Amino acid sequence: MSGRPRIAVIGSGIGGLTLAASLARSGTPCEVFEQARSMAEIGAGVQLAPNAARHLERLGLGPALREHGVAVEEMRVYGWGGELITWTPFGSACEQLYRAPYYAVHRAHLQKALLDLVGSRPLRLGHRLRSVSRDEDEMVLAFEDGTICRADVVVGADGIHSVVRESLVRDAPVFSGLGVFRGLVPVERLPAAAGEPLIRMWLGPGRHFVCYPVAGGRLMSFAAIAPLADGGAESWSATGDPAELAAAFEGWHGLVADVTHHADTVRRWTLYDRPELPAWSADRLTVLGDAAHPMLPFMAQGANQAVEDAVELASLLAGAHRADVPELLAAYEQTRAPRTAAIQRGSRAFSETMHLADGPRQRERDRLMRLAAGPTGLRERAWLYGHEAGSRRGARQDREGVS
Ligand SMILES: Cc1cc2nc3c(=O)[nH]c(=O)nc-3n(C[C@H](O)[C@H](O)[C@H](O)COP(=O)(O)OP(=O)(O)OC[C@H]3O[C@@H](n4cnc5c(N)ncnc54)[C@H](O)[C@@H]3O)c2cc1C
Repeated sequence: MSGRPRIAVIGSGIGGLTLAASLARSGTPCEVFEQARSMAEIGAGVQLAPNAARHLERLGLGPALREHGVAVEEMRVYGWGGELITWTPFGSACEQLYRAPYYAVHRAHLQKALLDLVGSRPLRLGHRLRSVSRDEDEMVLAFEDGTICRADVVVGADGIHSVVRESLVRDAPVFSGLGVFRGLVPVERLPAAAGEPLIRMWLGPGRHFVCYPVAGGRLMSFAAIAPLADGGAESWSATGDPAELAAAFEGWHGLVADVTHHADTVRRWTLYDRPELPAWSADRLTVLGDAAHPMLPFMAQGANQAVEDAVELASLLAGAHRADVPELLAAYEQTRAPRTAAIQRGSRAFSETMHLADGPRQRERDRLMRLAAGPTGLRERAWLYGHEAGSRRGARQDREGVS
């Protein structure tokens, strides 16, 4: 058999859809198998940093991001009592340094914009993968409903509970001890300043609170992270109790109290990550996004890294010959694994430093954060926001530093 590889993508989250959209752009067909019977995203926001926003704009998402998202002007970090610890300019500074804005977007709007690019043809909804195996030089996909499909490349974009990952390693999600309440509040219910295009974050002992406007500034998205004693036993995602949210952040300053007071619908997640993946690919199978490197949300990079993975993989698979697939997947892993492992480790480390108890270590942390206030902090993120996925150039730029 010869010619172009048949590409099967498992999962239509941000990672899977970005891969499909990037492949479509180069005229490379694929099929996307999604377990859900209809496409519906959760009611929550997502931050898109320039390292991903730049690629999404190149794919053609710029108008949708500008219309339905919010281009963030600044990030402000406060202590739980309300004192400003540090701030980082985004806005035009991000565009100058990193060639893209920093967006805050409702997940449903991002998903819709990606779906518009992909179209319905590659999507195979209601297909829950049960197992993947190899038959000589082909991969065989077995779905829960009994369907069997064959492909030359299988990409697991099937999230933290990935079935595809099981072909590569036997591991399990690691409970962080933390849970998160998430939701959306109409900005009109909040004080006027709430609608400003800012990401605001408050840090306190064992917990923190983040909020930012999405949906063209009409809704305030929030994520409130706090200890969860019974996390290991409870379900992955559940309806949260607004009273429990309010109690977890009682006495916190200003907007935190306003948002928790007006949050009448909240969802609650348990936060897990996984160990670093020792090998990302085997012959004709690989993983991307949370299937490859689920991370705690302390750097707000999980979806951004899924986009980078997708762009990198699409650039390698575009126009590829099926015989070259194993070598291309090895190149993909070589480029992506060190970077995502560093971000996974960084996210884990931040889960401690962002939640320090009031005292000398917290004061020292705040002092260091103050030193990086303003453009300094933005320049320090060159390794993160300046990275250019989709070319081997990206790895070289990381080593040599980006200006
Ligand atoms: C509180 C919180 C805040 C966050 N904030 C940010 C942020 O601001 N910025 C950021 O970059 N990241 C953020 N993240 C992380 C981000 O949400 C994830 O990293 C990202 O959504 C992962 O995308 P994905 O496409 O890899 O996986 P997923 O979004 O999990 O998609 C996986 C898809 O695969 C499908 N699927 C699963 N199993 C199967 C199967 N067996 N067969 C077929 N289909 C299957 C699922 O239905 C789903 O559609 C946050 C995470 C949390 C918890």
